[in-house]
Amino acid sequence: AFELKGKTVFVAGHRGMVGAALMRRLAGEQAELLTVPRSELDLRDQAAVNAWFAAKRPQAVFLAAAKVGGIVANNALRAEFLHDNLAISSNVIQAAHANGCEKLMFFGSSCIYPRLAPQPLREDSILTGPLEPTNEPYAIAKIAGIKMAEAYRSQYGADFISVMPTNLYGPGDNYHPEYSHVVAALIRRFHEAKISGGRKVVVWGTGTPRREFLYVDDLADACIHLMKTYSSPDLVNIGTGEDISIADFALMVAAAVGFRGEISFDTSRPDGTPRKLLDVRRLSGLGWRATTSLNDGIQLAYRAYRAASDGRHQ
Ligand code: GDP
Repeated sequence: AFELKGKTVFVAGHRGMVGAALMRRLAGEQAELLTVPRSELDLRDQAAVNAWFAAKRPQAVFLAAAKVGGIVANNALRAEFLHDNLAISSNVIQAAHANGCEKLMFFGSSCIYPRLAPQPLREDSILTGPLEPTNEPYAIAKIAGIKMAEAYRSQYGADFISVMPTNLYGPGDNYHPEYSHVVAALIRRFHEAKISGGRKVVVWGTGTPRREFLYVDDLADACIHLMKTYSSPDLVNIGTGEDISIADFALMVAAAVGFRGEISFDTSRPDGTPRKLLDVRRLSGLGWRATTSLNDGIQLAYRAYRAASDGRHQ
């Protein structure tokens, strides 16, 4: 087992939705938490990352920094999604290794699995077929990060592990109208329609794709559990093991927000992968399962969205 207590722990990406959830969860672990704002350290800058690690020498690293976004962002910003994510993973993993890091967790994504891999997606389906084209650059960068963590383990014995979270949502999500993920997009769109008395809300695609959604504080809890107990080159999926169609999900968000109008589907927008459901048997074998139901999680996320937008309006 790996102790966090008393260790210096670097959360890369602490302002992001995942990093912020890790910070909340780590607060009770009696570790010395290290963070650095983007204005002080650009994780894409190799020399700067090396210098920061040489000065701070964190004993544990959560590599939760990444350029992320929804289906449109991934497809439109293909160069940045590939370059920035490759650079961040490469710089942080190498600098961690070179500066005595005892344990590192790399965050992958469920989109690393082939588009048409058998569902639910098993960890060993990585690299067995072609990727979903809309997020191929992001997925390729994440696959490289996974392989990098694996290579430092096999060549140098580094205790670097990789986790594959499913689609995440919760406080601190990005609510950009075009570039957000579906949960944040629909919370905002239904809320704004309710406030403005709009009668119709548009949902992208056909409504038939199926997705699995995990509340980000559940993810953070799983990650702390794995950081302490898991040491293996094998990936670990982190999800709920349940999925829902986008059409049914839209109905749930509408109900949570209190929107009573009509929902229509814009089929000129992409559907992306037809289905993305993780096989979570490895994770449950390791003694963890999700506890926040999708209904509760949407309520919590909606509350956080309203608190953040009230703050912005004051
Ligand atoms: P993905 O899992 O990588 O495809 O991530 P997204 O969260 O961006 O999209 C999930 C699914 O929700 C896709 O089938 C989208 O077409 C659908 N979707 C429906 N409405 C929206 C929306 O307003 N924004 C986004 N991002 N996706 C939406």
